[in-house]
Amino acid sequence: MESVALIINLAYVLAAGLFILGLKLLSHPATARKGNLVSAVGMFIAVVVTLLDHQIISYQWIVLGFVIGGAYGAWKAKSVEMTQMPEMVSLFNGFGGAASLLLGWAAISQQTAASFHLLTHFMLITVILTIVIGGITFSGSVVAWGKLSGRMGAKAVIFTGLRELSIAHLVAFFVVGYLFVNDPASALWLTLTIVLALSFGVLATISIGGADMPVVIALLNSYSGVAATAAGLAVGNTILIVTGLLVGASGLILTNIMCKAMNRSLMNVLLSGFAKPVEAGEKIEGEIKIMSAQDAFYVLEAAQAVLVVPGYGMAVAQAQHAVREMQTLLEENGCTVEYAIHPVAGRMPGHMNVLLAEADVPYDQLYEMDDVNPRMENYDVVIIIGANDVVNPAAKEMKGSPIYGMPVIEAYRAKTVFVLKRSANAGFAGVDNPLFFKDNTRMVLGDAKDTINSIVREFGDD
Ligand code: NDP
Repeated sequence: MESVALIINLAYVLAAGLFILGLKLLSHPATARKGNLVSAVGMFIAVVVTLLDHQIISYQWIVLGFVIGGAYGAWKAKSVEMTQMPEMVSLFNGFGGAASLLLGWAAISQQTAASFHLLTHFMLITVILTIVIGGITFSGSVVAWGKLSGRMGAKAVIFTGLRELSIAHLVAFFVVGYLFVNDPASALWLTLTIVLALSFGVLATISIGGADMPVVIALLNSYSGVAATAAGLAVGNTILIVTGLLVGASGLILTNIMCKAMNRSLMNVLLSGFAKPVEAGEKIEGEIKIMSAQDAFYVLEAAQAVLVVPGYGMAVAQAQHAVREMQTLLEENGCTVEYAIHPVAGRMPGHMNVLLAEADVPYDQLYEMDDVNPRMENYDVVIIIGANDVVNPAAKEMKGSPIYGMPVIEAYRAKTVFVLKRSANAGFAGVDNPLFFKDNTRMVLGDAKDTINSIVREFGDD
């Protein structure tokens, strides 16, 4: 019996090692695929070993769940558009939270009248934590999914009494949690905790504006890990504790990176709904100058150093392959081409890196914002491809702007700026962009892929 326990624990250590190796490999685009595979093998080992550990009630349900969930997951992974990835990730976080909630619930509902008094306070507290954090993660992620997919307005929803209602929820968690720990056999306290957790998740997320969603997604990702850890403690499963901690810690690191990228503290983001509304931004003076793709080509033909700044619009237009083609032609023409990636460009962390990797853009040509800003004056042309908020100088120039203080790629300091988008409309944060009105900016209007293809054709005709 002891040797079986040893084998199981060794298998868990192996799975945990594979998760850590997988995470390490995931940290670079060149090894990310391998990292995914290594982590998946680790997860497979963890699942099989847990099943063999005889903590199983019935295999039929597991097989059925595996077939339905696996088939749906495989179909979704194949069919999801790259632009829908962020909301998909948000749903994944939510499902993680929901799974933990159900596990906590199951740990209590499988008890018999006789076994309740055997439950320790530690176990009951971890069950409450699992349900609270899992529930908040689930409903919060559903709201984030709604905001990111456009099913809900991206603006923060604030109403009178929101602050009081949120505080009442926090107090209720303690009161109901205490009652549950003292009377776990009563279904009332458990049900109330679930309802409170779900409604608090909604309250906490609707009050955060769309522009802060990168931080929210990263934080919900971290919550899903913490919920899994609590669930692992509740049911005594080591590998669940380890995976939960890995997800929780990496989510927290990502949250920190996102906060820094937006020059916000976590508290400031979470309580943004309660902050005083910012004054309306100043009116932007000036005139927008429009340029044709052909004229843009003439300027690019003479350029020696070009910086490409991709944003969400590149993902919408699926312009990454055309961008890669343009890069090759510019380089053949003796021009150096570099890319500047803002940490919150697109709609999920690493969004632009993934797209550019798909188009075989070399990683060593990708630079972070802090690398390119000091040498911005050296670029002859900065081509902004479907980016808006991440290059918005209002973050530096307009005190009343909601994005004031956010670090941005300072494209406006380059010799010439081309903005490739369909209109002068605002980006995700809903803030007007003074860059479009600057003397050195030219807007090349249209779908980004069409515009770049036109420039590529001009190179061919030349
Ligand atoms: P923005 O959302 O600011 O701007 C994207 C621009 O792309 C739009 O203004 C749109 O303008 C243009 N666009 C859309 N479709 C096309 C097309 N087919 N061809 C050309 N242009 C197109 O994107 P950024 O990447 O600059 O900034 C990201 C924003 O998203 C930030 O506010 C960030 O906080 C937020 N966010 C980021 C997340 C992350 O993790 N990275 C997660 C959630 C939100 P037009 O309609 O005129 O074409």
